[in-house]
Amino acid sequence: MKVSKFGGTSLASAEQIKKVCDIVLADPDRRIVVVSAPGKRYKDDIKVTDLLIACAEKYLSCGSAEDELNAVVERYRQIAQDFNLGNDIVTIIEEDLRGRLAGDTSNPGRFTDSLKASGEDNSAKLVATYLTSLGVEAHYVNPKEVGLLLSDEYGNAQVLPESYENLKALRSMSGIIIFPGFFGYTPSGILVTFPRGGSDITGSILTAAVKADLYENFTDVDSVFAANPNVVQNPQAIAELTYREMRELSYAGFSVLHEETLAPVYRAGIPVCIKNTNNPAAPGTLISTSRQYKTGLVAGIASDKGFCSIYVSKYLMNREVGFGRKLLQILEDEGLSYEHTPSGIDNISIILREAQFTSDMENRVVQRIKDELEVDDVAIERNLALIIIVGEGMSKSVGIAARATSALAKANVNLEMINQGSSEISMMFGVRADDADNSVRALYEEFFRNV
Ligand code: ASP
Repeated sequence: MKVSKFGGTSLASAEQIKKVCDIVLADPDRRIVVVSAPGKRYKDDIKVTDLLIACAEKYLSCGSAEDELNAVVERYRQIAQDFNLGNDIVTIIEEDLRGRLAGDTSNPGRFTDSLKASGEDNSAKLVATYLTSLGVEAHYVNPKEVGLLLSDEYGNAQVLPESYENLKALRSMSGIIIFPGFFGYTPSGILVTFPRGGSDITGSILTAAVKADLYENFTDVDSVFAANPNVVQNPQAIAELTYREMRELSYAGFSVLHEETLAPVYRAGIPVCIKNTNNPAAPGTLISTSRQYKTGLVAGIASDKGFCSIYVSKYLMNREVGFGRKLLQILEDEGLSYEHTPSGIDNISIILREAQFTSDMENRVVQRIKDELEVDDVAIERNLALIIIVGEGMSKSVGIAARATSALAKANVNLEMINQGSSEISMMFGVRADDADNSVRALYEEFFRNV
């Protein structure tokens, strides 16, 4: 049994949905299909999810959002028309949207989640209707019916453990199940969404719950590439990756999978295959527990911007019991999550995602560090990027850091930070955001073209 998830570009038009259905019908093992909301049809198009967010925002500020609502309905109408499905399904979708808009607006997060989720929900209804029109037994299943339970964090929900037991029932349902990605319900029945891109997470949860043999994640590229094709020309395609490698790469900017996707399948030991809806014959990238090292030591190079660091130094910091805890407590009090803490003997840097660290928070945090920890120096640096090289083979080899740092030095990149996790399958470099692309190119040359 396979769970097959299709991303937004695969649902963007009738032509794309036809490809999805052809893929599903070509293999009887594809029994559970998870769909995203219709995505972009062309470069400057707008994803339905973004139209829905605009619709929610307009409604919250003006009490009406007719144009925005019509823009969403139009996307579905076009698809239904191209499939000759008649108007009933479009009416169902429009009424569903109007119902959501008429809902309680007292909690904007909750209201927006309800609107956002309609993108995948109506996409699933439409695909099920199309398959049924072909004479195929296909059923739209709503996450509430089968107990996909999530924590009550709007736009940032996490799966609750009891979901896995509840969702087992999907395995014995007849026909092809069309399941909307991206959302579930709290135990008290309120709709909540995962973070953006979260349909990948739904697919992974379903795969683990029904103990499928494979999680297929269909997107619009033939495979995962060793570096971002917008930065490096013709990067190598990656045939196989381990969960750990993919986790690290998606953390630092490989957007092919949402970074939270792998946890459920990893725990269940089920492999994931990334495939292309537009070229399903291509082998794709297989992600599993272990892999063969046919290629070099480094599997991929990722980079992500939008980081900042808090640098703190104090003479004899290493002898001061509780210093780290007190420092991190100050961040916790501000609700800040941190990413890394590279440290020296008497200094420590805390790397954070910059977007959450407002200038008000910065002033308070700096003042408290000075007052409460009596440090020698505290400095904030913004506009940082993290570059990460990842590969299982790296843990057993000598000289990777030397090669990486000299490649970066030759490219005239100043290193703000180096960090190697204890698993030794990745190495991270902090650089100025302006140097990020240059760094990726230099590292790619070193590890992929000079082998
Ligand atoms: N449609 C949602 C988004 O654009 C979720 C997804 O596609 O995975 O973020």
